[in-house]
Parts: sequence; C-alpha cells; structure tokens
Amino acid sequence: MAKFKKAGPGTCIYCFDHFDTLTWDHVFPKAWYTDDDISNYEKWKVPSCQKCNNRLSKVEEDLLLRVALCLNPNDPRFKEISLKARRSIKPEFGKNERDILARKNRRLAIEKDILRHVTIPDYGLLPNMPFELDKTDQNKLSIGIDPKLISAFAEKLARGIVFKTMGNYITSDYIIKDYQCEKHKIQPEIDYAQKCGQRIKFGNTVILVYAIVPDDNISSMIYVDFWEHILFSIIVTKKNQ
Ligand SMILES: [Zn+2]
Repeated sequence: MAKFKKAGPGTCIYCFDHFDTLTWDHVFPKAWYTDDDISNYEKWKVPSCQKCNNRLSKVEEDLLLRVALCLNPNDPRFKEISLKARRSIKPEFGKNERDILARKNRRLAIEKDILRHVTIPDYGLLPNMPFELDKTDQNKLSIGIDPKLISAFAEKLARGIVFKTMGNYITSDYIIKDYQCEKHKIQPEIDYAQKCGQRIKFGNTVILVYAIVPDDNISSMIYVDFWEHILFSIIVTKKNQ
C-alpha cells in the first residue's frame, strides 16, 4: 500500500467522513507532471482519507497508463510521460520480483483492453489524440478506456479544484458531469469561463480554466487540459435546476 503524507484531523473532501488523521491528495496527480514541473507545481493538495486516496491513486494510474500509451512518443510535449508508461509495462525494467510482477500484470490488463480497428466503437475514441484514426487500417491498435474511469477522474478533479479555490465541498445536492469533446468545438465555452473566472497554468503539465458561480461558490464550469492535449470538461450544477 502506498504511503501518503499525513494531514491533521478533519473531513475527507471525497467521502465527507470525519477522520482523526487525513492524508494529502494531489489535485493533479504527481505522476502526470513532467519532471521539470513537479517541484514547482505539485503544491495543489487537498485533505483526503487514506481509503479515498488509495482508491483515487488506482484510478489515476489506470487512466494515465491507458492515455499515455496512446500518446506519440516522438512529440516532445509528452515524450517523457509516454516513455514512462511504455516502460511500466515492460518486465525487463523491473527493479525486483514484486516490481517485475506488477509490470507483467499491468501489461496483461492493457492487452485485454486493446481494440483492433474493426472493433473500435465510436464512443470509445478519445478526441485530440495525435493520430488520425484510419478505420481501414486493420493493423492499427487502440486502447479502450472505460468511460467510468474517465468520470471517476473528472469527479476527483472537480472536488479538488472547488475545495482548493473556494474551500467548499461538493455535497450530494450537486451533480458533477464530465464531457469528452473536441477542444475546438467548445472553445467558446472555455473562453467564457476564462472571462468570468480564472486561467492558471501549471508549467507544461496543466492549463486549468474555471468559473465558479458566486451565488453558491460550488456550481462551476471546469476545464483541465493536460499537456495541452487531453481535455477534461466538467460541469458542476445544483440538483433540480
Ligand atoms: Zn474519504
């Protein structure tokens, strides 16, 4: 089990239970930062219980691996992220027996998710990927990403961002919805959020644009762009509105 830095007593921002000891969870996962950025920008942390932190670490790892394996390793923007992911499924890079086994297991899990083009469903395509999909090319492979994995990660981002910027918990009176859409199609919405809200750049890793409704300081439009390439669009609204 991973070890997390301890925070004091308080309420977990993910499950709302009270704990005598909490851990710090990174809003933008540490492993998603490029090496240049990590020391400067990894300071956005939020209080989380150990159980939620463990659960979300697994979500982040599974999603990063699948996204990173689809990135073009020749593109300097994500060369490092892409190479790290490729190495993480190669047993020959294992440091000890446990590490070798972990790499083998990751590889097996990914092999199960590999789709040949004939079987790729339209809903399974992540927009903004570097290659043009050619459905006639039977040799190209793709990796299926469970939409639930994307939603779990988007929800984590929203909870962390609203807490970090407003100090608020997104309670069960609110709905968090994520959208996968091509950046250019929602550029007007992103521009609007930036005009009414904030844009924060975390080195070359993250561009965060968000606008939070001042009435409740929770309802919000949130856009998180990793490596200027993969966009997570999230809307938080009050139920029954
Ligand atoms: Zn929790």
